[in-house]
Amino acid sequence: MHVLLTNDDGVDSPGLLALAQALRALGEVSVLAPDHNWSASGHVKTLHRPLRAWSFTLADGSPAMTTDGAPSDCVALAVLGLIEKPIDLVISGINPHANVGHDVTYSGTVMAAMEAVINGVPGLAISLDSPGIPSSVEAYRGAADVARRLAERLQSHPLPAGVLLNVNVPNLPAEAYRGISLTRQGLRLYRDALVRREDPRGRPYFWIGGEAPTGILEKGTDLWALSQALVSITPLQLDLTSYPALEALHPLTR
Ligand code: MN
Repeated sequence: MHVLLTNDDGVDSPGLLALAQALRALGEVSVLAPDHNWSASGHVKTLHRPLRAWSFTLADGSPAMTTDGAPSDCVALAVLGLIEKPIDLVISGINPHANVGHDVTYSGTVMAAMEAVINGVPGLAISLDSPGIPSSVEAYRGAADVARRLAERLQSHPLPAGVLLNVNVPNLPAEAYRGISLTRQGLRLYRDALVRREDPRGRPYFWIGGEAPTGILEKGTDLWALSQALVSITPLQLDLTSYPALEALHPLTR
């Protein structure tokens, strides 16, 4: 099995290293990740500038590649031939913060896994539900082990076409996980606020600030699972069509 790892936090992130170390037990691992943090960059295809890619050495001395492209660019570059050997699975992460509810559309982590699926390669995004950004590889070991076990199971139970997995792991020692739950996307409550300031030259500038988001803990959702110390697996699909609306909006065509 040949696994491509990427992330949106940058090639030097401890979550990526933990993932690389865990997945090596399963087969060959290639790493191609952005040279800086692209968190909340969503689904990107860089069209208007050249992309550069170069070698990088992870903190444990193992080889990787990095690029000035976005997380989804990393996946496209790799599957289109920058990495010559065919890729069986793309894993993106481990993001330090949960990607739940509407977060998935902002998430560079999740959109890298989506880019894999667009290119016909199974994709899995994995995030840790940490309030801060853990700097030690150890903090990500439990989540990395979840990724390794899922990668192993996907070999005998392949994902349906057009489906990616969005995995979120409680911020607990692995022995405290209460199980694994298949979930649906929950509802995030964003508390964004417009911050309006002046630069040193007296010109106004704006920042999207505010409090960290909360969410509604409805049973069966990704947010709920994390609140119950459960590992959450949400299958996401590329088809964003609202099928109920296809029916309901029929009057628009008359
Ligand atoms: Mn991130």
